[in-house]
Amino acid sequence: MQGFNKYYPPDYDPSHGSLNSYRGKHALGDRARKIDQGILITRFELPFNIWCGTCNNHIGMGVRYNAEKKKIGAYYSTPIFSFRCKCHLCDGWFEIHTDPKNTRYVVVSGARQKDEEWNPEENGGFAIHDTEQAAAPLDPLAALEKTTDAKHHVEKVQVPRIESLQQLSEHYNADPYSLSSKVRKRFREDKKVEKLKQKADDELKGRYGLPETLSLAQEDEESRQAAKDEWDKGVRELELRRQAKRQRMALQGPLSSSSRTQTRSSGSSGGLTSLRARILENTTRRSLPRAGQTNSNK
Ligand SMILES: [Zn+2]
Repeated sequence: MQGFNKYYPPDYDPSHGSLNSYRGKHALGDRARKIDQGILITRFELPFNIWCGTCNNHIGMGVRYNAEKKKIGAYYSTPIFSFRCKCHLCDGWFEIHTDPKNTRYVVVSGARQKDEEWNPEENGGFAIHDTEQAAAPLDPLAALEKTTDAKHHVEKVQVPRIESLQQLSEHYNADPYSLSSKVRKRFREDKKVEKLKQKADDELKGRYGLPETLSLAQEDEESRQAAKDEWDKGVRELELRRQAKRQRMALQGPLSSSSRTQTRSSGSSGGLTSLRARILENTTRRSLPRAGQTNSNK
């Protein structure tokens, strides 16, 4: 039994190194007793039903053994492990390996595996572990044609392309100084133009109180022409509207003014007469029912 606490004996001091090395023990304890042979004792559970090869007994899936686990190889970078177990019904040993290629376990020696695997191919399905690509039928003529095609492609397409790219590269790298000065000169000219434009824009913004962050559209011949057309159109429309208004005024003006004066004049005289007539009517209406009343009373 491995201890769960670490007992430090009185004669121990840190210069001895770890407690395990001082006691001459492995960190994994008794399970590492064959570690010098590359074997670690692990608990292994049978992944399928087997028959022991020595005593011919059936051993069910899920029975656990203290198996000797050992790395015996690799499939690409995945290690292949072997598990050596001792039958619990006899003293026979059997060995099971992992099979990373087919993601399964295989019995190698000392036992027989009960074949219970579902084979989809037998039952009209497709194989799951079809890791090997179906190799193309070997036709020497077809292969030859393929190689000649590839050769032609290299000669006719790839080599000229590489050569032209190399020429281009040499052309640009031949005189870096003159190319650089050309580019810088052009950049300076562009910068000057850009600066002038920026100044003009700023002036415009200042004149009309536009926000600083507003970006003005690029000014060119086309936009200038469009703006001019738009302005002319606006001016023309305004002129047309003014003319129409003037015409309307000329048609309506005299009529409305004369009627206004008429009503005003009639209002001053006619209003008075109508008021008088209404007062008279009221007085007669008031006096009439009184006469009627007196008549009925009588
Ligand atoms: Zn056995």
